[in-house]
Amino acid sequence: MERNEANRRKIYNIGVFAHVDAGKTTLTERILYLSGALRSPGSVDSGTAQTDWLDVERDRGISVRSASACCEYKGSRINIIDTPGHVDFAGEAERAIAVIDGAVLLISAVEGVQSHTEVIWNALEKLGLPTIIFINKTDRAGSGVARVLRAVNERLTPHTLCLSACTGEGTRECEITGRFDAEEAALALADLREDIADRYLAGDLPPENELRAVSAEETKKRRLTPVLCGTAKLGRGVSELLEAVTAFLPDSAAREKDELSGIVFKIEHDRDIGRIAHVRLFGGSVRCRDRVETGSPNDKVTQIRRFTGSRFVDTGELEAGDIAALCGLDGLRSGDIIGTAEEKCERFRREISIAKPYLTVGARPDSNAPDATTKLIGALTELAEEEPYLHCRWEKNGREVQLDITGRVQLEIITALLKNRYGLSALFTPPTVIYREAPVNEGEGFAAYTMPKPCWAVVRFRFEPLARGSGVVYDGGNVPHNQLFYKYQTHIKTSFYESLEQGPRGWEVTDLRATLIGGEHHTIHTHPLDFFVATPMAVMDGLTRCGTRLLEPLAKMRITAPEEFLGKTTGDVLLMRGSFDTPVISGGSFTLDAVVPVATSLDYQTRLASATGGRAVLSIAFAGYADCLEGEGADSPRRGPDPRDRSKWILYARGAMRDGV
Ligand code: GDP
Repeated sequence: MERNEANRRKIYNIGVFAHVDAGKTTLTERILYLSGALRSPGSVDSGTAQTDWLDVERDRGISVRSASACCEYKGSRINIIDTPGHVDFAGEAERAIAVIDGAVLLISAVEGVQSHTEVIWNALEKLGLPTIIFINKTDRAGSGVARVLRAVNERLTPHTLCLSACTGEGTRECEITGRFDAEEAALALADLREDIADRYLAGDLPPENELRAVSAEETKKRRLTPVLCGTAKLGRGVSELLEAVTAFLPDSAAREKDELSGIVFKIEHDRDIGRIAHVRLFGGSVRCRDRVETGSPNDKVTQIRRFTGSRFVDTGELEAGDIAALCGLDGLRSGDIIGTAEEKCERFRREISIAKPYLTVGARPDSNAPDATTKLIGALTELAEEEPYLHCRWEKNGREVQLDITGRVQLEIITALLKNRYGLSALFTPPTVIYREAPVNEGEGFAAYTMPKPCWAVVRFRFEPLARGSGVVYDGGNVPHNQLFYKYQTHIKTSFYESLEQGPRGWEVTDLRATLIGGEHHTIHTHPLDFFVATPMAVMDGLTRCGTRLLEPLAKMRITAPEEFLGKTTGDVLLMRGSFDTPVISGGSFTLDAVVPVATSLDYQTRLASATGGRAVLSIAFAGYADCLEGEGADSPRRGPDPRDRSKWILYARGAMRDGV
């Protein structure tokens, strides 16, 4: 019964995206309230918002972890993914993008389009995700819906259609009404559709229902973007928004007959239940007590639950097209695929990448207890297992754990998680930048590991530099099997990638094309793991011949402040080795788009606030890696012996092999 009902019901999986503080949490609350899932709207400001689960979110008043909540609206189910707005959590926003079918992009009617708004827009664009824009905070003084719409048209898309009107803008009395102007719709569509253009020019205005249908079609193709406005805080314009979501965005088009296929887009921990995996199912279905292949002995689903805004409901079943949380599956990580990877999962795995860790901090326990370090390592390893954007390294003899992170807010979350979940407290060193290195010239790398016997492994590579952002390309070449067994060629490939973790200057190597052009085993002397000893030597030999240069992470910034601070701000950007576009000046303030190295701008937020007496607005987004000026940046001390130090390396590598590492 329940199942038939579910099959008939349309499901909309939508993500709410925005720059931090634009009102995502407030809007999500309001939607849940409107649909009856919540008895009263929680308030972010009084710290009772229902989707902000973590205490740290309550303390900070911002939503930094994505949570999914589900509500019913006029017979349809709407699953809302509340995505993090802060750039530190771009990894989560990215995963959320992969599991939704449509997006609501929030823009503040006061602050307008921010650089992070553009980052999100571009990611949505890349995935072809249909989007509705909601201009929020029309009740606030300084609200300018028309101004924001112009910025949207200039910087995001020229093809928009207004679906609500606002009176009394900028006051608490502002009122929102739904509107659909046939003339305006026909004009917007005329740019996209010749048939509509022809009819419009011939004076034949299509009827409203037809225009609505065509607008919906074009929105689903992501050629048209409906725009609405309102105030989430006062709950106005929200029902118009839901109307637009169900009328214009695609539903999840469930095909429950397909094979099981889904993406784990978030992992959470519950003290009693353990690991909870938030899953979007594209095909098939999962029922309570089903086994799901996870690579861990605990692979039986013990509970399937859904968050309705005020409580969890045990639903016992998850159908294709829907989103819910699976409990009991210990082996799952964020970003894992369950069942077969269908096309959308594959794309998710390969293509999208907004952020990678680009900062590193050392962590050590704030306690002298003998097992404190072990406990901290255990906890951090577990957190890193859940979160692919957190990397955790620990050297056997080191006193500190090294954590690679994507920003300071993430560090605060980690601190809070350590405290709440594990009862641990940690001390962190100030963050430093993670550089990368890339080859400068073409060249060959060679190693012949034939002494001291018994051993025999010869490897020869050709290396070529690639353009920035290309990553690493490995070409297995065509060395014949009788000269170099295929199983050894596989060892070489594995070892090659491992070797790139530390280049000659100690950083991860990227933008490199490698071809295996030669190599040799010996039928008598070759020990099974010899190529794991030889390959790192050949890689380091080649990279040293090619020469490498440092790459550094960049941040894209948008600074808005009163005009009097323009000179000081552009001066600061230049001092940070940054560059900027021509500032836009309007109404006594300026907006400056700049790109600066992360290394020089780590504390810029604080410096800017104190320089302007808190009158500046700064938004930051990660902008990729670029060549670092000679003399800037720093080499990283090598962990473990250097393969170029031949005898030491061979001794170490042989020993490690023996230990089974
Ligand atoms: P998020 O960081 O995007 O999740 O934003 P929140 O929902 O936490 O909201 C940030 C702040 O903006 C809070 O202080 C909200 O009360 C406030 N806010 C949200 N929506 C509105 C609105 O429509 N009008 C006004 N005046 N304030 C709002």
